Amino acid sequence: MLRNDQLDQWDRENFFHPSTHLAEFARGVTPQRIITGGQGCHIEDRDGNRLLDAFAGLYCVNVGYGRTDIADAIAAQAKELAYYHAYVGHGTEASITLAKMVLDRAPDHMSKVYFGLSGSDANETNVKLIWYYNNILGRPEKKKIISRWRGYHGSGLMTGSLTGLELFHKKFDLPLAQVVHTEAPYYFRRPDLDMTEAGFVAHCVSELEALIDREGADTIAAFIGEPVLGTGGIVPPPAGYWAAIQEVLNKHDILLVADEVVTGFGRLGTMFGSEHYGMKPDLITIAKGLTSAYAPLSGSIVSDKMWKVLERGTDENGPIGHGWTYSAHPIGAAAGVANLKLIDELNLVHKAGETGRYLNAAMRDAVGGHAHVGEVRGEGMLCAVEFVKTREGRGFFDASEKVGPRIAGALLSRGVIARAMPQGDILGFAPPFCLTREEADEIVGKTAQAVAEVLG
Ligand code: PLP
Repeated sequence: MLRNDQLDQWDRENFFHPSTHLAEFARGVTPQRIITGGQGCHIEDRDGNRLLDAFAGLYCVNVGYGRTDIADAIAAQAKELAYYHAYVGHGTEASITLAKMVLDRAPDHMSKVYFGLSGSDANETNVKLIWYYNNILGRPEKKKIISRWRGYHGSGLMTGSLTGLELFHKKFDLPLAQVVHTEAPYYFRRPDLDMTEAGFVAHCVSELEALIDREGADTIAAFIGEPVLGTGGIVPPPAGYWAAIQEVLNKHDILLVADEVVTGFGRLGTMFGSEHYGMKPDLITIAKGLTSAYAPLSGSIVSDKMWKVLERGTDENGPIGHGWTYSAHPIGAAAGVANLKLIDELNLVHKAGETGRYLNAAMRDAVGGHAHVGEVRGEGMLCAVEFVKTREGRGFFDASEKVGPRIAGALLSRGVIARAMPQGDILGFAPPFCLTREEADEIVGKTAQAVAEVLG
């Protein structure tokens, strides 16, 4: 085994880490953490620390770490057949079985699933399918995609454009021209504090209507949204939001993409967020929870309505010009099958809902009354604490004070990993679904200590 100092040197000399301050990492300012193992809700690092991972990696290790059922399925698949492509009708037992398992769980009006590797590439697929769909329907102008400020849909060229966070645009010449953004359904950050929740929904609707009006409905192809805003702040939508938005989309013949990369397969205590909020999407993006991140795999679930047009397109134009070498990779598919079986066997969707409610209630009790906590919010196994400088008048801290990252640091020093969300002082929690109540209590208790340490 390599010595820690050797790994440290190689890491800083060779490894381009994603979402990292490159210069500070190279200079040795940003600490390095080498993860060596994981079991249940805990990971271990090379320095012997055992940490309670209250963010399940990047809200993806939904069944928890160390699941030998999934590891065994991956090993068996790798030994039998590590790879074959899925082009021109090829498949494996694992990929075909997984497609059936996904469709069995998806809303009834969905028809087929295309498998990719990451949430980002699945959303790239979605945009291509939307453009193809409108070209086949003879509407070449109807191409723009509406996304929300604070939405997160990936970090590719198109998906980074859909993402509505400044960090992902700045200096990358994004967003691309085909993407337009509208109001985030973020009631706590409503523009006027006197707005009621219903008034704020009406405001989101009128912002959307105004945008469609400005751009012209005949230029807008689709609207993409996460059922619950994730990376943008972990924000459940205000009551009635999705029904009101869908009414507008239907009126203007605009497709709906539900990005369920975080919410798919149980995180809200329901199989899909679409089901949770009564959404009727034309496409559903899945990734993370599909394999619980035991192997990279994502998917675009396509509705009957779109599928019929895609079929017509290939009758008119030949095979669809879209595919990755690793689409439906057998190892990812085997991981997906084992993961979804495990979720069923352990009743983890129900458990996520139950323990998530407990975690949210306990967090509210523990820190909700703190003078610098503006809001504790969540849904299912998602929870966020948003910090404010002043509760009265909802005054925010200056970003340079790094309040969120400092509290996340204070929590980490107590052995709990939460995520300082990238925009605002927001501490995010998204634990594995196997979290116990004792572990939830530990997260909450240590969060209260960390908040007290940084903010008094
Ligand atoms: N969509 C959502 C809602 C996400 O949260 C993420 C990642 O966090 C993505 C898409 C992009 O997924 P990936 O990082 O696998 O490309």
